[in-house]
Amino acid sequence: MSEISNTTYLLLGSNEGNRFDWFEKAMQQIKQTVGKIVTKSSLYETAAWGLEDQPDFLNMAICVETALSPLELLAAIQQVELNLGRQRTLKWGQRTLDIDILFYNHDVINDPQLTIPHPLLQERRFAISPLADIAPDFIHPILNKTIAQLLEDCTDPLPATLIAD
Ligand code: AMP
Repeated sequence: MSEISNTTYLLLGSNEGNRFDWFEKAMQQIKQTVGKIVTKSSLYETAAWGLEDQPDFLNMAICVETALSPLELLAAIQQVELNLGRQRTLKWGQRTLDIDILFYNHDVINDPQLTIPHPLLQERRFAISPLADIAPDFIHPILNKTIAQLLEDCTDPLPATLIAD
């Protein structure tokens, strides 16, 4: 682990059980294994994408300061998903907790296991809406637009409904 502090934006998602409770538990573990949570978005609810016959998703974005490298960060969030009992039974199926890395500083990473910025970020309102709460002026390092602009341009027809601050 290096001592250098990096800023990462993570997206949390859940559509099973007590969804907010998973977020609380995930954030406790993220504080212990990833770093300090600097900001949190509001909570947004979205109909499930891909497979529609399943409960709605709850999403939130968080900003975390971390000394972990990108691949160490991926391993740490996958461990949190495992600890919280995620079952990978069905692609796009119900999941207790999903964690995606949206950004890591302004780095562009194309590793077989890890693509940063997250490639579908700008196409999914459930990701861009919570991110716009906490990082409206952050400039996407490939698209060269702010998150606020990407939200304005987003054509995703599925609404992301603000349900709690
Ligand atoms: P998912 O089932 O959507 O959580 O996808 C998990 C897989 O996506 C993992 O095996 C990761 O290696 C890969 N992956 C690629 N880029 C990312 C990213 N930016 N954040 C999280 N997982 C990623």
